[in-house]
Amino acid sequence: MSIKIENLSYTYAPGSAYEIHALKNLNLEIEEGQFVGIIGHTGSGKSTLIQLLDGLIKADEGHIYYNGEDIYAPGYSLRSLRGKVGLVFQYPEYQLFEETVYRDIAFGPKNMGLSEAEIDKRVREAAGFVGITQRQLQVSPFDLSGGQKRRVAIAGVIAMEPRCIVLDEPTAMLDPRGRREVIDTIGRLNREKGITVVLITHHMDEAAKAQRVVVLDKGKVAADGTPKEVFSQVELLHGIGLAAPETVELCWELNQEGYDLPLDKLDPKECAQALYDMVMA
Ligand code: ADP
Ligand code: MG
Repeated sequence: MSIKIENLSYTYAPGSAYEIHALKNLNLEIEEGQFVGIIGHTGSGKSTLIQLLDGLIKADEGHIYYNGEDIYAPGYSLRSLRGKVGLVFQYPEYQLFEETVYRDIAFGPKNMGLSEAEIDKRVREAAGFVGITQRQLQVSPFDLSGGQKRRVAIAGVIAMEPRCIVLDEPTAMLDPRGRREVIDTIGRLNREKGITVVLITHHMDEAAKAQRVVVLDKGKVAADGTPKEVFSQVELLHGIGLAAPETVELCWELNQEGYDLPLDKLDPKECAQALYDMVMA
């Protein structure tokens, strides 16, 4: 599913003393099947954008098109949109509340009015995809690790078979292993199922795994390009309170000392090679 965001603006508490322009004339086009990372400082508008994409809140100005269809057009069904765009909120485990993992994953498909047999098939497939075992389906979600809970939440969205999944900081507060498992799952979702993925994160190394990185600052797009293009703009990132991935920061620091290292080495191996070449030259 393709997404086109046109001139989108959103203001909290308009007209009051607490008025906040969370998004200002935002423009963004995401192609079908693309994996986009969105990064930005706290307060840059990431979560607001997510709620707009799912129709939970309505923009003051501008348009959102899915496959060319304007979601604000009269008669457009926001209900059908929810089936096409899967949303994984920040801290999705707060929304796990059923007695078993199985029932939590089944919650979305059930609401779609599918048959028991279809629900069962989807729950088992989605669980398998995110690495939740058949045995774990029968335990309480509260007995799972942080990373497993996140993957259960993702499975619940997958089971609705959306063509696009938007995730709001899905690895926040996870340990490195949990983070890795969640990020791997998201990458496979895009590669193996061809689902359009919008990943909101403040971990630069996670955004670097996307095909494209969009940087939000104060409700506007500050940079947009491949991970290499965006993360090599170190001064721009620093200027808005963000850091580049560690490998790029290392090369950049050394350049401040007079070296001339490339700033597009996102992979530790590539970075090590660049350092080796520099020493041997
Ligand atoms: P991010 O997810 O990037 O941290 P948000 O979209 O949550 O950013 O917030 C963008 C701006 O809107 C911030 O200045 C934030 O304080 C403000 N904001 C977010 N939610 C609300 C709300 N419910 N009421 C008032 N202001 C809000
Ligand atoms: Mg947020």
